[in-house]
Amino acid sequence: MAFEGLADRLQNTIQKIKGKGKVTEQDVKEMTREVRLALLEADVNFKVVKDFVKKVKERAVGQEVMDSLTPGQQVIKVVKEELTALMGGDQSKIAVSDRPPTVIMMVGLQGAGKTTTTGKLANLLRKKHNRKPLLVAADIYRPAAINQLETLGKQLSMPVFSMGTEVNPVDIAKKGVEQAKENHDEYVIIDTAGRLHVDTDLMDELAQIKDAVKPDEIFLVVDSMTGQDAVNVAENFNDQLDISGVILTKLDGDTRGGAALSIKAVTDKPIKFAGTGEKLDEIEAFHPERMASRILGMGDVLSLIEKAQENVDEKKAKELEQKMRSASFTFDDFLDQMGQVRNMGPLDDLIGMMPGANKMKGMKNLEIDEKQINHVEAIIQSMTAKERQDPSLMNASRKKRIAKGAGRPVSEVNRLLKQFEEMKKMMKQMTNMQQGKKGKKGKG
Ligand code: GDP
Repeated sequence: MAFEGLADRLQNTIQKIKGKGKVTEQDVKEMTREVRLALLEADVNFKVVKDFVKKVKERAVGQEVMDSLTPGQQVIKVVKEELTALMGGDQSKIAVSDRPPTVIMMVGLQGAGKTTTTGKLANLLRKKHNRKPLLVAADIYRPAAINQLETLGKQLSMPVFSMGTEVNPVDIAKKGVEQAKENHDEYVIIDTAGRLHVDTDLMDELAQIKDAVKPDEIFLVVDSMTGQDAVNVAENFNDQLDISGVILTKLDGDTRGGAALSIKAVTDKPIKFAGTGEKLDEIEAFHPERMASRILGMGDVLSLIEKAQENVDEKKAKELEQKMRSASFTFDDFLDQMGQVRNMGPLDDLIGMMPGANKMKGMKNLEIDEKQINHVEAIIQSMTAKERQDPSLMNASRKKRIAKGAGRPVSEVNRLLKQFEEMKKMMKQMTNMQQGKKGKKGKG
């Protein structure tokens, strides 16, 4: 999970101060020392750390904490607010030009995820805002880049503009924008070339493209796994191109957090989106406050709810509730339900969004849990349609067949059947209890 080390350390630190009825300067000193170490270890830029610690210290020994009835809590609030400020405000909007098309230029080093993110952004614009983007392939140095964008275009059923590798990228960008105008495309997203390191030729070319097409947005795509190095890259690109925002990729990996926590402070440009996987829908608006909350173990209930709303079918949920009430819930429903939860993303990410998740550190074994879910799925999938509807059909030979099909021992099949029956029984009891209550109310 991203930021895991940082989250662990900060949570341990704030835990110590949390319940204190009185917070002394010594307490604050100790806390900020630990916070400082935690941030440095997460590869946050040292200047950024210094500033951050200074601000927290000043506020933590100030009036707002000392006058508070719950100073411990107040200190944590300060840490959270400063952590949020460090990552900037909520900025995930994309400019809309009053003279369409809106032009977005994607820049960044090779391998940062620029081409993938171009596709993700196009997908997002269509899905969330119902906009039609044209993708422009202006990376002529890496022939595979053009193919990659064309493949993405096919996957997304979106048009891709390219002129091969023999034409100057500045001309490609200009022609791409012209074509978008003719076709009344509302957005143009230009995928530019990347290099392994920042170099002057590349920067000159990007500056020329910028002059030629006057983009409404220049998004710098940054690999969050590169930590503090990302800061130098961002500084360079920003100096040369005056970027409008940053998109952090690979936040699904075990990044320590350095890039996310340093970039805004150093460039004063917001992190607008975060890439959270290789698939085209794995991009999220970056919400600093939610991220700070997650890092401090206070959960991110808002994101969790949003994910549920996006992935759980409401009609199905209602049907399911009915079935649960009448205890006519079957293994098919069970499978369906598991699928919907799965769509929300890896389990440990979901757990990470729950408040106090750090206290459930038995949860470290979550990978095993994910495996167990795979096993349960395999067992249900090995049942016939009839068996799923009516588990009472189950006898020894059926169980043996199912176990073989799923590649699991019979004991596991037995356990699942038993759990399922118990769950149904429990639902029945709950429904009866509720109906009992309603009945009483009705009479009274
Ligand atoms: P470019 O050279 O900057 O255009 O980079 P690409 O778009 O080709 O991406 C480089 C690699 O990073 C590819 O394997 C992508 O699938 C992968 N990638 C991009 N974004 C993400 C992300 O948010 N999460 C993960 N896990 N992989 C990503």
